[in-house]
Amino acid sequence: MNAIEQPGTDEADWRAWAGLGRLPAADLTGWARVLVLAAHPDDEVLGVGGTMALLAAGGAHLRLVSVTDGEASHPGHPDRAALAARRAEETAGALRVLGAGATEVIRLGFPDTRVAAREDALAAELRVLAADCDAVLAPWDRDVHADHEAVGRAAGLASPRTYWYPVWTWHWARPGDPRVPWEQGVSVSLRPSIAARKRAAIRCFASQLETRGSGTGPVLTPGTVAHFTRDHEMLLRAASR
Ligand SMILES: [Zn+2]
Repeated sequence: MNAIEQPGTDEADWRAWAGLGRLPAADLTGWARVLVLAAHPDDEVLGVGGTMALLAAGGAHLRLVSVTDGEASHPGHPDRAALAARRAEETAGALRVLGAGATEVIRLGFPDTRVAAREDALAAELRVLAADCDAVLAPWDRDVHADHEAVGRAAGLASPRTYWYPVWTWHWARPGDPRVPWEQGVSVSLRPSIAARKRAAIRCFASQLETRGSGTGPVLTPGTVAHFTRDHEMLLRAASR
């Protein structure tokens, strides 16, 4: 059983920890064009949906790259193409809820669960897509999920302006966890209306919130979703490594 399948840290433990409140504020000044990367549709909303809503409200141009279509989220699913299409629709709905309906969406169609095998090709594509962007937001390259890590590494190679966002980290890590470089963390504060948009956007991903076939529970349990209902989002600065 890997770290994602094991029972995770309760959100109440994170909320009781003062460490997150001590993070310096992220400076989004000058972020007029921002590239957001998702390994799977929903990563971007979980990790930086609030930041995306803030940037969109401020008139920034957002380019969202879905590296895979997330077609492997339901083991034994009879129609992966239909699942991929459904997840793309969920992303479109979530972007509208975030007030980011004008986001430029690019689906790269890499194979779900097997991004690492084509990491160099991904970095080359991202270099082009990041060239005109002021910042890149990508899954953390040590998030434990192999696709998240591959996308995070490729982003770090593609642009020195990369910030990483944790997703599964909130599940497997503990407050103060030495595996997380908290000193690289910055915090984006989400005012209540923005946090509410994020919560509503998460609900657009019905395929991830529903019980899957043959007794398999949802990808996103209520305990996992709780990590993404905070009034802030943490980014990890990549450039300082
Ligand atoms: Zn993911």
